[in-house]
Amino acid sequence: MAIEQTLAMIKPDATARDLTGKILARIEEEGFKIVAMKRLRLSKLQAEAFYAVHRERPFFGDLTEFMSSGPIVAICMEREEAIVKWREVMGATNPENAAEGTLRKLYALDVEKNSCHGSDAPETAAVEKAFFFSGIEML
Ligand code: UDP
Ligand code: MG
Repeated sequence: MAIEQTLAMIKPDATARDLTGKILARIEEEGFKIVAMKRLRLSKLQAEAFYAVHRERPFFGDLTEFMSSGPIVAICMEREEAIVKWREVMGATNPENAAEGTLRKLYALDVEKNSCHGSDAPETAAVEKAFFFSGIEML
């Protein structure tokens, strides 16, 4: 099976509670190799650009306020079936629906402050990786 890359984020609710190390440890335990990583605070404009597909959704304003409220960690990582596998490890968007043991079940505060992000398809993974990292940072 082919190695695939995905883009993960540790969201501001998680960095604020010092969960960065626990989430990175879980990433490695689940067989992902970290290819590139950076910690930064997004501006509102940058958060709006990242979540542009959700622009028409009612939660867009609150989401982009939240995502620019504190530091995030962006991670480009790879393994077999990385995109689907990382979404499994994160669990459902709403922690109320997330399976036992998933990161969102363990750490999310609510449907918005849900601790982590993962790309949902190869096309979005490519766009999201390029949002944070240049080609020479992902070798
Ligand atoms: N979100 C929210 N309210 C909702 C749905 C989503 O605040 O009703 C936020 C949440 O932080 C989520 C992000 O918007 O992770 C992107 O939504 P999406 O449906 O893409 O969920 P994901 O792919 O992150 O599971
Ligand atoms: Mg999504």
